[in-house]
Amino acid sequence: MAGRRPLVAGNWKMNGLRAAATELDAVCQGYDKALQAKADLMVCPPATLTTAFADRALGRVLIGGQDCAPEPAGAFTGDISAEMLKDAGASAVVVGHSERRAGHGETDALVRAKAQAAFRAGLMAIICVGETKAERDAGKTLEVVSRQLQGSVPDVATAANTVIAYEPVWAIGTGVTPSPAQAAEVHADIRGALSRRFGLEAAGMRILYGGSVKPDNAAALLQAKDVDGALVGGASLKAKDFLAIAKVYSST
Ligand code: PEP
Repeated sequence: MAGRRPLVAGNWKMNGLRAAATELDAVCQGYDKALQAKADLMVCPPATLTTAFADRALGRVLIGGQDCAPEPAGAFTGDISAEMLKDAGASAVVVGHSERRAGHGETDALVRAKAQAAFRAGLMAIICVGETKAERDAGKTLEVVSRQLQGSVPDVATAANTVIAYEPVWAIGTGVTPSPAQAAEVHADIRGALSRRFGLEAAGMRILYGGSVKPDNAAALLQAKDVDGALVGGASLKAKDFLAIAKVYSST
């Protein structure tokens, strides 16, 4: 892992009412000293829960947003700025998730502007990239991911302000995953692209794997070379499963 501290982040998507804070409490309780010594944990709830979760997590488990607007404030009905997430207690924000790219037409340029907004507000950006099934079948995985990285990652990215999440679209919410070797191939390629662009700084940038990570496949995927943690969707909604995934790091 070359000194990179693993990060296991849970993306709750559009799930969770206030009562779900009990799951966050269970995550905080299960984040024991052995795990704290080995990995960062983050929960990204829907924006309505950011403040309540940040107050409850007390900085122990990190709280992240799931998206932000590029602008700091203004006439953008329904949008949430990076500054607002920061003010609500978030320390990071996911940008460029495939559900935003596909469902909301987000381009690499927009994702890059959102990552820049995160930096402006003092948030870490978790920038998502990943190919569709058709792109993988056409042998275009590395080309697509490299284009997304080039377009979505700002020039001022550092190891402190940027995390990359490799999330093959065909693995998200499907129960299907790449083999550890397939994941490692893409992660190595991402590391190479980051090194060419950011030099030595790239060695410290964390690259998470995301897509159907579950307790029973976490060990194999998270121990693959160049995988520095996970972005977990469905399995992050239950504290027990989320902790079981993260505990790969304290049990090895
Ligand atoms: C995600 O949405 O980022 C994700 C990885 O989802 P899932 O774990 O449910 O595939």
